[in-house]
Amino acid sequence: MTTRPWQVPVTALRRAVGARHVERRSGRLGELRIADTVVPTDTETTVDVVLSVVVGGIEVEGTVSSTWGAQCRRCLRPVGGSIEVPVRELYRPGGGDEEDTYPLGTDTLDLEPLARDALLLALPLAPLCRDDCSGLCPMCGADLAEGGCACAGAAADPRWAALDVLRSGTD
Ligand SMILES: [Zn+2]
Ligand SMILES: [Zn+2]
Repeated sequence: MTTRPWQVPVTALRRAVGARHVERRSGRLGELRIADTVVPTDTETTVDVVLSVVVGGIEVEGTVSSTWGAQCRRCLRPVGGSIEVPVRELYRPGGGDEEDTYPLGTDTLDLEPLARDALLLALPLAPLCRDDCSGLCPMCGADLAEGGCACAGAAADPRWAALDVLRSGTD
C-alpha cells in the first residue's frame, strides 16, 4: 500500500475538458468519530467515483463506503454496520475552506478530505441494536431483552406512583 492512497494524478486529465475518468481507491482514513459512533483506524474505506473534467475544475461523483461501530444507546450492546454515502463535489484550484469546493492541486486531486467529510456527515448518531430494543433496567442495570430481572414488578415505577397520587386527589 502506498503512503498516499488517496492522491489521484490529474496532470494530463486537467487539460482534457469533457473527459471522464473512473477512479476506485481503498485505504485507511485514521479514526473517524462522531458522538460515540466510530470508523476505527484499521477500517478499509473505499471511494468509487467518476472524475469529470469541467471548465475550471474537476467534478467528483460516486460513493464512499466503509463500516462503523458503536454501542446501542439503550442496552449498550455493540452495534455496527456498513455505510455507503453518495458524493458529488467540485475540486478547483484555490478551492477549499471558505467555499463549497475542495482544492485541486496542479498534479493531484486528494480524495481523502472528501471521504472523511462524507462519512462524518452520514454516520448514524446514537444507533439502536434493533428498533424495539427494551434497554436496561433503570434500577439494577440488567438487560431487559434477556428476560428482565428481580426488580420487575417489585418496585412501582415512580411516575405511576405520582399519577396515583393525582388520581386519588381528584376523587
Ligand atoms: Zn439495544
Ligand atoms: Zn432490575
